[in-house]
Amino acid sequence: MQKHDVDILVVGLGPAGSSAASAASAAGKNVLAIDRKAKAGYPVQCAEFVPQMMGVEVKGLSNVIEQPIKSMDTFVEAQDPNSTEPDSAEKFIMENFPGHMINRGEFDRELVEKAQANGADCRFVVGISNIDDDGLVHLTNGDVVKAKVIIGADGPRSKTGQAIGQVNTELLETRQITVNLLKPHFSTDIFLSNEIPGGYAWLFPKGKVANIGLGLIPQEKSSLKPVLEKLHGFLVKQGRVGAEVIRHTGGAIPVGGMLGTSSFKGAVLVLLAGDAAGLTNPITGAGINAAVMSGQLAGEAATNWLAGDGDAVEEYEEELEALFARSLKHAVKRRGEILANWNDKGILSASELQKGWIAFPEYWQA
Ligand SMILES: Cc1cc2nc3c(=O)[nH]c(=O)nc-3n(C[C@H](O)[C@H](O)[C@H](O)COP(=O)(O)OP(=O)(O)OC[C@H]3O[C@@H](n4cnc5c(N)ncnc54)[C@H](O)[C@@H]3O)c2cc1C
Repeated sequence: MQKHDVDILVVGLGPAGSSAASAASAAGKNVLAIDRKAKAGYPVQCAEFVPQMMGVEVKGLSNVIEQPIKSMDTFVEAQDPNSTEPDSAEKFIMENFPGHMINRGEFDRELVEKAQANGADCRFVVGISNIDDDGLVHLTNGDVVKAKVIIGADGPRSKTGQAIGQVNTELLETRQITVNLLKPHFSTDIFLSNEIPGGYAWLFPKGKVANIGLGLIPQEKSSLKPVLEKLHGFLVKQGRVGAEVIRHTGGAIPVGGMLGTSSFKGAVLVLLAGDAAGLTNPITGAGINAAVMSGQLAGEAATNWLAGDGDAVEEYEEELEALFARSLKHAVKRRGEILANWNDKGILSASELQKGWIAFPEYWQA
């Protein structure tokens, strides 16, 4: 058993954790960062689309862009209850919806390399097993860590969050396959249907391949496989993608909105970032941007707090609030409406489906 005495322990080396570790180590802090995975960035659990945010470009993307995205095509299921076939859906095109398809595994790997280059001690195949009330952290390899700050960037089912009572209680279940893309495509395709309650299906083109997947509420988890197979079969029939499945993935997406992002365990400051803080959009499931931004802010806040800035923690919360709270709250509200309708009636009309998706003006109404 080894005892580590560090300024900052970062738990999780996804985009949030590596961004936090990078920022804090660049500022000269002694950072230990751990991940239970064997390898930085892999396996990939992502559809790999990064929407371009107005005026804010996610740092570090340039090396890992696979192709540009220009628009979004939304397919809304036809309202004839006997016709749930995807080819009867109505198509809506949103011309200006730019972004990038990235190589997510390499993106995460590069972020970890940057943190290491800045001086962070990044270790794999080791997770946290427990955080004591005084903030002492027990690792899965038997080591203990005494840190002044713990940054919880350990994803949707964060153990760090659990230790401070901040838990993502609402999660989407997902399933995704990667297949050959037979015709170049520059839109993200979104499929809204009553077969996918509380979520949607997607086809995201990535050069010569495409990620096809869906996310829905946990109660309907058993539909993931058949609905995905049906969509895949339909796209094969259309001649857009190949029949062979190259890769499978999945994972949980937090959809309950933002959690409390700071607390103390004894004298140890605990900050949450990324999915651990519930920053993923509850409607789109997009969380890469928020993970990178919040991770960097958490690393900076930890550094400033260690330097004696008593306002650093409050400022971290305020910055997250300013960046994400409005859009997250709106998405939570829309999601609540969708689920209430679905629970009441078991079926959503086309206009209700549209009101629950960002491509339609109705979504943005108060
Ligand atoms: C199927 C799917 C598709 C998605 N598609 C997109 C998309 O196209 N665009 C988009 O923007 N977002 C997408 N997302 C969401 C996006 O992947 C997340 O929002 C993003 O990964 C959050 O980054 P993070 O660093 O907070 O968490 P993560 O990337 O989940 O990283 C958390 C890390 O913590 C580690 N960890 C967990 N527990 C412990 C522990 N106890 N000890 C040590 N380490 C631990 C994990 O191994 C992991 O490496 C998708 C999610 C899923 C599941």
